[in-house]
Amino acid sequence: MTNPSAVELVVVPCLSDNYAFLVHNNDTGETALIDAPEAAPIHAALDARGWTLTDILLTHHHDDHIDGVAALRTNARVIGARADAHRLPDLDLAVAEGEPFNVCGQYTDVFDVSGHTVGHIAFHMADAQLVFTGDSLMALGCGRLFEGTPAQMWDSMQKMRALPENTVICSGHEYTTANARFAASLDPDNPDLISRIKRIEAARAANQPTVPSTLTEEKRTNPYLRADIPEFKTALGMKDASAVDVFTFVRAQKDKF
Ligand code: ZN
Ligand code: FE
Repeated sequence: MTNPSAVELVVVPCLSDNYAFLVHNNDTGETALIDAPEAAPIHAALDARGWTLTDILLTHHHDDHIDGVAALRTNARVIGARADAHRLPDLDLAVAEGEPFNVCGQYTDVFDVSGHTVGHIAFHMADAQLVFTGDSLMALGCGRLFEGTPAQMWDSMQKMRALPENTVICSGHEYTTANARFAASLDPDNPDLISRIKRIEAARAANQPTVPSTLTEEKRTNPYLRADIPEFKTALGMKDASAVDVFTFVRAQKDKF
């Protein structure tokens, strides 16, 4: 996938259902990896293109996002959340929300998107129109709340929702089919959801990833981004409830689904 600022995005399937991402700048030769579930498929993707890793960005500390770091880091700079430095691989650059940095020639903003874990971060490359959300905002879903509260995750969802409309959402797992079944159970009459599910089914039938997705489609269809949308609240029979209460209900229902 090529985009206006000349960085190339490569989606690398890893493990059973994880995704890692490579961002490559053709002008500078830099290559960044976002999350490192395992080394082999990432090495293969790099070798196929003749690229060498210059940076590894980590969204959160779970094994399925960091286990490949030791084998991949060689000369790469490893970047992750300062708040989680104690449970991430050794960091060369520790970052927090409000501390942008430069990678692959891209001005990169950091957002705290706690909820799945406390200390989970997202990386936004505005010029490339890419955001790397790990297990916070996912295609038609959001990560399970292992550490944070529903209010924290709702706050994180609102930060992602406020990004520019055409932002491409690069999230950490292929969970979209199960997410779609759940979303349809809540919001069966949403025409955007109905048409998106048809596209998801076609993609999976052809063994194609449903990640990345776009913020535009997430805003119209992802139940976790819609906790304050009147039509969605009404569909749930919660039209007078607060957004946090709606989000809490939806996330709890998913855990039981
Ligand atoms: Zn995780
Ligand atoms: Fe994960």
